[in-house]
Amino acid sequence: MNDESLSGYSNFDLLLEVSPFVDGEAIPSESADTLELFNPANGQSRCYIPAGCDADAQRAIVAARKAFDDGRWSKLQPSRRRNILLEWADLIEGEAKRLNAMDAADMGKPISIDYGEAKAAANLIRNDAWSVDKISGDVISSDEFSLVATQRVPRGVVAAITPWNYPTYNAVMKLSPALATGNTVILKPSENSPHSAQRLVELAMEAGMPGGVLNLVPGKGETVGRVLGTSLDVDMVTFTGSGNVGKLMLQYAGQSNMKLVHAECGGKTPQIVFADCCDLEAVAANVASMILINQGQLCFAGSRLLVQKDIENELVNKVIEQFKNAVIGHPLDIKTTFGPLVNQQQMNRVLKYIEDGKKVADVAYGGQSVMRGSGGYYVGPTLFTKVPFDSSIAQEEIFGPVLATTSFDDTEEAVRLANSTVYGLGAHVWTSDLSRGMRLCKDIRAASVVVHATAQNGEGPGHGYSFEPYGQSGVGVESGTAGMESYLRRQTAWFDHD
Ligand code: NAD
Repeated sequence: MNDESLSGYSNFDLLLEVSPFVDGEAIPSESADTLELFNPANGQSRCYIPAGCDADAQRAIVAARKAFDDGRWSKLQPSRRRNILLEWADLIEGEAKRLNAMDAADMGKPISIDYGEAKAAANLIRNDAWSVDKISGDVISSDEFSLVATQRVPRGVVAAITPWNYPTYNAVMKLSPALATGNTVILKPSENSPHSAQRLVELAMEAGMPGGVLNLVPGKGETVGRVLGTSLDVDMVTFTGSGNVGKLMLQYAGQSNMKLVHAECGGKTPQIVFADCCDLEAVAANVASMILINQGQLCFAGSRLLVQKDIENELVNKVIEQFKNAVIGHPLDIKTTFGPLVNQQQMNRVLKYIEDGKKVADVAYGGQSVMRGSGGYYVGPTLFTKVPFDSSIAQEEIFGPVLATTSFDDTEEAVRLANSTVYGLGAHVWTSDLSRGMRLCKDIRAASVVVHATAQNGEGPGHGYSFEPYGQSGVGVESGTAGMESYLRRQTAWFDHD
């Protein structure tokens, strides 16, 4: 099976040429250096993309600066900005199948999984487009001779530096609020998954976005990403990726112009299950899906199972049954629910964690690479039990399908274990005692704590949801209205009068 026959798209459609996109047009990189990309499903060479260079990033910065300063976007009537964004969303939705196939072929996310796919990205843009005229400032109470107001103004040039795990959605999470609030943007996608980013930018131009407002610089993080992070002409960096690179972003800002940095980084989400939980079958299904989704390559992946001792064996057995149901296969095959990891390096990294885990804990399921004959980067669903809380598989973000189980006696111990890593992104609590759920909501340090008192999964808040990471999961508010406000500066307008 190959990408072409499975997706219904030609390789020409999936592997469109990647190049810098500046001032409304694709232009060649100033450097002849390239990076070779491999097919995660079979390990074979797929294409070469520009490695990028300082000059590529500089050209995009100059274009974005000019486009911001002349007001072609920031001073456009809100209704026109909104309409262009809505048109962009429609174009993305119209090409959602192709964008999903590009991401699956680039990094292994199965096309059968709805979470984080292109249609959801289009809806996010629609939400932000309809919000352009709803974020307002304040008039502050003052004396009889002055009127003091706070207005919200765009920050300026925003560099959006994104990871490979949900290429379309993670890019749109940055582009949509930054553009809706009037900033100009330079997108630097991950070198592992640049194709959908290229198409997103082309579609924005088709939607009528003025040239220079959304620019793209593909290439290596250490070159292109560093130039964006250290530039004196970039006003904000909005980053999603690993903690180590997130910390570099903060350093770049400190070494240059103190630009605002938003860094959404890693996590080690605990899934905490009490003996009084509603329905162990439903819990097991959720626990398994939260670690198997996108092969565990999700910042919110529920990679730790903290379970009350009385139900440990029963729950572990049920989770194993769920793991057995994973349909491992080619990410472009609609039957597949579990694909390969992004690349050889990531596969080796995950396998190394598994080997380290075997030295300190029991393997209850999996623990090895699978589909070896394919040549792809497949690591099977893996479940560890009796995991010491301070071991590497319990503490570090693996970003693979590895679930580490540790048991606890009571609520205090559960909270202590939940808070025992440097991260604070997500947490899930399973208990039918809402009073206990409330206690955990208050005591667990995380961007979001979900308490499941029943087996029912509600739709939740849609795009109204904002979150702010704790600890080394990052800095800055993302999503929702508060997330959009992050891309705006508060400026005081003070009038003295008689
Ligand atoms: P990464 O940090 O390796 O790369 C992210 C981006 O930074 C890429 O575009 C890369 O080219 C760039 N980069 C790399 N080195 C750089 C450098 N020295 N200077 C400037 N830029 C550089 O992350 P990844 O491996 O692509 O993605 C996986 C990570 O992303 C995981 O840790 C995951 O938890 C995190 N993530 C977090 C969230 C969230 O919302 N918190 C969402 C998705 C992914």
